[in-house]
Amino acid sequence: MQYDHILIRYGEMALKGKNIKTFIIRLQENIQQKIKEFPNAKVKRSQGRMFILLNGHEPDPVMEKLQNVFGIHSLSLAIKVDNNLEKIKEAALYALTKNEEVNTFKVSVKRIAKDFPVRSQELNQILGGHLLKNTEGIQVDVHKPDLEIKVEIRLEATYITSSVAPGLGGLPVGTSGKSLLLLSGGIDSPVAGYLAMKRGVQLEAIHFHSPPFTSERAKQKVLDLTKQLTKYGKAIKVHVVPFTNLQQEIFREMPEDYAMTIMRRMMFRISERVCENESILSLATGENLGQVASQTMDSMHTINEVTNYPIIRPLVTMDKQEVIQIAEEIGTYETSILPYEDCCTIFVPKSPKTKPKREKVSYYESTHDFTASIEEAINGIETIKVTDQEKVEEYFTDLF
Ligand code: ATP
Ligand code: MG
Repeated sequence: MQYDHILIRYGEMALKGKNIKTFIIRLQENIQQKIKEFPNAKVKRSQGRMFILLNGHEPDPVMEKLQNVFGIHSLSLAIKVDNNLEKIKEAALYALTKNEEVNTFKVSVKRIAKDFPVRSQELNQILGGHLLKNTEGIQVDVHKPDLEIKVEIRLEATYITSSVAPGLGGLPVGTSGKSLLLLSGGIDSPVAGYLAMKRGVQLEAIHFHSPPFTSERAKQKVLDLTKQLTKYGKAIKVHVVPFTNLQQEIFREMPEDYAMTIMRRMMFRISERVCENESILSLATGENLGQVASQTMDSMHTINEVTNYPIIRPLVTMDKQEVIQIAEEIGTYETSILPYEDCCTIFVPKSPKTKPKREKVSYYESTHDFTASIEEAINGIETIKVTDQEKVEEYFTDLF
């Protein structure tokens, strides 16, 4: 007797019709992908649930992987037995005695297979009696038991579970299309990426890099952050844009207090071009209302003028402390606070406009032709595929 299955519950309540099918198929694929290093483990679907058949693998490392998969509501280790009273008794006793330091318990039977000859209520009593008779010093407590042994009699078999671990919730990555995440090396954008993924979004990332003002290590930091995000989904393509020339041109040709705003507009313009090439329909950023000069309402309004793509800003209403807490939970904080220079911080003007106006920016931009530098930046994009495996695959694309 052993815990040889993991039972997966998904909150499908909010989904209807065709969506539910897409959701389930994608969830199963994502789970399969995440546990592929356990070659004998199999994922099975059954009436509103999924099960992992462990086939000899240790449950804990598999559970750990599953706790990073979006779309899973909760998980339990389970013992699977035939729909046979003696087998069920034996498994319930195993579940109870396997847990040390249990003084009280309760049995909850759910009989989905209506042809099973004993009714739920009666089976509760039979199993309770069996457990009391075969243990010492353990009592029943129906209100606040140390351990609740759940017995689910399903059509194909009976599953016995005794603990529930929370899943991440959300929607399976890939069920909501793709978004291009503007990823800096800071605290915010990785968290924004994580939260977009939580809504089922598959990410690609774009990073604006300004060598030699920003170092190789700063770029590596962004790849490391991306790798951390792949823990919660699939491989992520990172488009690294050589931004130095364009950025210098902006700071040389444009009024200093508007340079920051114009730089952001360029980032969106270039991002949109990548989206067109990759068939991506939205952008995502770590922008937050009122944190810094570039994130006032006026500033967002002015920067946003250059694109009509939807922009997902999951952090827009959050306090910094809330963002930091998520960053710590998802494991990006440590990397984000490493002190490598960012392309935005090295060119920071002394007093950026906190209320930049669209008309003024458009006017300034019309006084200089940036086309050549924009095209040069786009043509120089290096695309790197980051996976959750050890190795970072690097390749150059001729995207444009
Ligand atoms: P973060 O912590 O994500 O760096 P921030 O609080 O520093 O954000 P800003 O510097 O104003 O805020 O940047 C706002 C958003 O613009 C970032 O969250 C990110 O989405 C995007 N961004 C900024 N710099 C870059 C960059 N070098 N490459 C790609 N995206 C960037
Ligand atoms: Mg930043």
